[in-house]
Amino acid sequence: MNPGRAQPAPTAFSAPIHVTRPLLPPLSDYTELLEGVWQRQWLTNNGELTQQLERRLEAYLGAPHVAVLGNGTLALQLALRCFDLAGEVITTPFTFPATPHALDSVGIVPVFADIDPQTLTLSPSAVEQAITPRTSGVLGVHVYGMPCDVEAIDALAARRGLRVIYDGAHAFGARIGGRSIGDFGDATMLSFHATKLFHSAEGGALLLRRPEDRARIDLLRNFGIRDEVSVVTPGVNAKMNELQAAMGLLVLDQVEQERAARARLKAIYTERFAAAPGLRMFALPDSVSDSNQYAVLLIDADEAGVDRDTVYERLKAFNIFSRRYFYPLCSEAPHYRDLPSAAPANLPVARRISRQVLALPYFGALGEEGAHRIADAVLHIAGQ
Ligand SMILES: *Cc1c(COP(=O)(O)O)cnc(C)c1O
Repeated sequence: MNPGRAQPAPTAFSAPIHVTRPLLPPLSDYTELLEGVWQRQWLTNNGELTQQLERRLEAYLGAPHVAVLGNGTLALQLALRCFDLAGEVITTPFTFPATPHALDSVGIVPVFADIDPQTLTLSPSAVEQAITPRTSGVLGVHVYGMPCDVEAIDALAARRGLRVIYDGAHAFGARIGGRSIGDFGDATMLSFHATKLFHSAEGGALLLRRPEDRARIDLLRNFGIRDEVSVVTPGVNAKMNELQAAMGLLVLDQVEQERAARARLKAIYTERFAAAPGLRMFALPDSVSDSNQYAVLLIDADEAGVDRDTVYERLKAFNIFSRRYFYPLCSEAPHYRDLPSAAPANLPVARRISRQVLALPYFGALGEEGAHRIADAVLHIAGQ
């Protein structure tokens, strides 16, 4: 607080500002693609647009095999089944509920391991300590586009005979030292939900490294049907349809421009909070390309003199609706909190971080002035 430099209170936005806004192609472009769908009278089941989207994504992401699916949660479930995971799988509590739910839904017990305080992703040493004779795999999450310590986790898994699946819902287009995130683990899931940078309204994908895994996902996503007379495995319905694929193809055309616009907004947030005690934007190392999914502020209550929940609540008066991703932790949900691994003493870093994070509005249409006004409001609330 510096009364000598007191500023007039910032003004509220005239309409609600949410944390994101979906990219929408010009409607006429969408109807043009739909005309082809109408002509072909082919709405789903590996249609032309779905196949086109897979080829375009393989090129954009630099990933050898992309299988598009109905949504990201289904993608996780299919990956778990593809590699016959069972028993226990080690995962992070600092994620969206779909991550542990995917495990639970296929009869696997999630075992929570703590995160690293710098990267906010699974700590490889915590993973190692959580391994039991029942462990079959690791499900890491590239939180806010920050890749897990993939080298360490992949090496550990190879040594201990475990499978590795990455939840890359925040990491569309992320590269590590120029390599696609799809180059690590056994499979990487992507979500194409409307709240994600790249989306198909609802949708998702698996990035696979081996053609035989790709072939197995093709079976699993379509009821396990190989041909008219052979159903070779109990698959599910996890297909993407042509209307989703049309949306995806057009949104993909806009992604690069949107990433550039978002990068400018993050630069503004970073600069505006640089000198503020207790406020810090989560940043990726130079070796990682930013997927521009979230702009996350960490608020250390002791240093900032204000806690995260106060900032979150008081921003609403300015018509700014930030989100506390990820709070509460998944391990704090009633369905999981009695698991031994969910004990607070097992997850001290995740607990502390989950009480500091605040995802700020982050979409190109916000504009640079919008980002400055949001920074003004946060600094005002923090008395800085
Ligand atoms: C969005 C998200 C999911 C779920 O993806 P859906 O496509 O909505 O099913 C899973 N994990 C994380 C980390 C997410 O952010």
